[in-house]
Amino acid sequence: MKEDETMVSAIVSNIRQETPSTKSFDLTPITGKVHFLPGQWVDVLVQINGRTEIGGYSITSNPSQKGSISLAVKDLNNDFMTRYIHDSMVDGDMVSFNVGGTCTYSEEKNDALLLAGGIGITPLMSIFKNIGEDTDHKALLFHSASCSNEFLFEEEIKTLCLQHPNRLFYRQTLSRNSEQLRNQTFGRITKSKLQKLPVLCFDAVFLCGPDKFISDIYECLIEIGFDKNHIYYEKWW
Ligand SMILES: Cc1cc2nc3c(=O)[nH]c(=O)nc-3n(C[C@H](O)[C@H](O)[C@H](O)COP(=O)(O)OP(=O)(O)OC[C@H]3O[C@@H](n4cnc5c(N)ncnc54)[C@H](O)[C@@H]3O)c2cc1C
Repeated sequence: MKEDETMVSAIVSNIRQETPSTKSFDLTPITGKVHFLPGQWVDVLVQINGRTEIGGYSITSNPSQKGSISLAVKDLNNDFMTRYIHDSMVDGDMVSFNVGGTCTYSEEKNDALLLAGGIGITPLMSIFKNIGEDTDHKALLFHSASCSNEFLFEEEIKTLCLQHPNRLFYRQTLSRNSEQLRNQTFGRITKSKLQKLPVLCFDAVFLCGPDKFISDIYECLIEIGFDKNHIYYEKWW
């Protein structure tokens, strides 16, 4: 991607270690306001030693959050951006970004089931917050994570559910069964787990996670009878 007039210059702030693998941070534009829809992502550009490096990350904040956007990045790769974010980025750093993506939620999509695999919760978090804070619709967020300490945004999600107890719902499943935890659902999201949810009561389903997670769960939803025209996902790779 070329740097162009749609690029926004921004300051990094509020860097947090959210889970053992994942850091989150805010980007505050130096001028103007950023317009985006829940579910969109940004290409972040950093200039270091005369080189421009790029990384793509979903926006986790609600568009109605004033002044800044929030991102969360898993320490998964050795690429330059991941190493910069996890090893050397500090509050006050300057970056630039632009917004992209068409897998978005808007109010006419009504009630939504959000199925997240691992760090794939990031765009769904923006949708979940948007539905809770800015609509009268319902959302059920079902998150599959490999370890119990990788349920990103767990406390924030639980707080939102307490604030909107009749409209926002949260389920977790722990896919590595080595941890023995009480009241915990184990194993990946499967057709039988989905059949225990009121899937067909939702108007839209959003999927995000590893490629195989998306394709397998898409097939399960079709087998259950969910309308494929109302299943939304975006593959990055
Ligand atoms: C649209 C989109 C947005 C993204 N946004 C970001 C971002 O903002 N930040 C970022 O760092 N990366 C982002 N990514 C990158 C991407 O999510 C990860 O690199 C990749 O998906 C691996 O995630 P993970 O390590 O959490 O997966 P894993 O931990 O390997 O898996 C996550 C969970 O999914 C389950 N799972 C895996 N496969 C299946 C299957 N076939 N069926 C059922 N369950 C399964 C696992 O058991 C586990 O519970 C994004 C990717 C996409 C497609």
